[in-house]
Amino acid sequence: MSINLNISAVEMRDKRLGAITSYHGDAQTLLELSEDKKVPVTTRSYSQCSACSEGCAATLTYYVRGAAIVAHAPIGCDAQIASQNYAAKAASINRHIEEIHAIKFLSTNIKEKDTIYGGLEKLRNAIQEAYDRFNPEVIFVTSSCASGIVGDDIESVADEKESELGIPIVPIFCEGFKSRVWTTGFDAAYHGILRKIVKDPKKKQENLVNIFNFQGIPSFNDLLGKLGLIPNYLIPMATVKQLEEMSEAAISVHMCETLGTYVSAVLEEKYGVPEVKAPAPFGIKWTDEWLRAVAKATGKSDLVENLIESEHKKIEKELAEVREKLKGKKVYVYAGDSFAHSIGNLVQDLGMTLVGMTTLHHDQKVDNENKERLNTLKNLIDERGNIPEFSVCNQQPYEVIKILRRLKPDFMIARHQGLTPLGTKLGIPTINEGDVNASVGYEGLVNLGKRIIEAGRTSKFEQNIAKHAKFPYSKWWLDEEPDPFYFERENKAK
Ligand code: SF4
Repeated sequence: MSINLNISAVEMRDKRLGAITSYHGDAQTLLELSEDKKVPVTTRSYSQCSACSEGCAATLTYYVRGAAIVAHAPIGCDAQIASQNYAAKAASINRHIEEIHAIKFLSTNIKEKDTIYGGLEKLRNAIQEAYDRFNPEVIFVTSSCASGIVGDDIESVADEKESELGIPIVPIFCEGFKSRVWTTGFDAAYHGILRKIVKDPKKKQENLVNIFNFQGIPSFNDLLGKLGLIPNYLIPMATVKQLEEMSEAAISVHMCETLGTYVSAVLEEKYGVPEVKAPAPFGIKWTDEWLRAVAKATGKSDLVENLIESEHKKIEKELAEVREKLKGKKVYVYAGDSFAHSIGNLVQDLGMTLVGMTTLHHDQKVDNENKERLNTLKNLIDERGNIPEFSVCNQQPYEVIKILRRLKPDFMIARHQGLTPLGTKLGIPTINEGDVNASVGYEGLVNLGKRIIEAGRTSKFEQNIAKHAKFPYSKWWLDEEPDPFYFERENKAK
């Protein structure tokens, strides 16, 4: 990958990785078409819901301890702030962080007048206010559609205030309209952090492992600790110092290639921090492979085989019990790109039958040129075979409801809590796989199995809900029109 941290914004994922948000067919065909970035770009003539890059940038930056955030946006763009603040509290407890993290956030509240006369004075004042009020070590400034369309020069104001205040002021260019794929916002946040916060390494920290993940439980501690390695959980809940030092780490790993591909590739190319080229540790075989790759890259290969053997033994009995209970149960997976593939591997490792999968977007390639074993769809197909019922859809419950009604899975696993009511209203016990760290490693597999079994115990409850639930769709859509993908259209303006 050719990186350029001198430019203010990272190239959009749509172009860089050929990311798409619509596809239906089978997984093998999608994989083959992706080899040459040949998947036809389609959009929808009707969208029920969506998300945007700004939200994904916020998901990372809101949670940096010691940082303040200024959103140069209309107030509505950050309506999520209240729920995120609750999540920050929960994340602090999950991570055993003594000082509960409260998000330090201001919005410039762009209004109509600012879109005519410009909003830079407001931005200057807001940065000053954030500095005075929160005494932060760094201030992130996130852009929005409004500031992007009127062309407010955020970078100049950030540079001006940075010289005046003496702390990094980090512009994050995450205008929602620029990209079809909201995960572009992750790249935007990393790009800003890499440009303005990460320092050149003073020394190599031989045992430090960058882990790009969300704000979940610290589930990597146990396995990495047994190899004498120290996890550096990034970006959510990290301190500014942790961000500064990511260039000193021995290696980078991630719980999801969608999340970690850009930042890991830049760290490898610019600072020589190798990205571990193995599937994320979800499921027995992938965890074995991941551990061996981690151990090899950190000079711990002499420890790893004993560790793998003892971990297998530790879960053997419980895993057999869980597999026995879940054998042959049908499951549908509805989650973000690479993480959906990982869940697909997990459920099949538990003996379940994967009847279909919807990923919320699809990257046709990954950032690192040395992509062997980072292609998660290929890994899944190689491991478990083709998935005949495969679609890519940026949420759109109206589409997925028709698939679920046809396939009638026993369970659904969804990554986002907003998607879980769909399963429940159809009478399908549904797991919200909200904490993506929870299913990591050997114990993570058993825990997921137990959570699925637990969810199955409430199936009567879901069936009751289904009897009374109403959907906001017409009879035509629910019962007469057979094609769930009716609203997909080829995008003429590629
Ligand atoms: S940045 Fe644009 S797409 Fe995102 S919430 Fe604001 S207006 Fe909506």
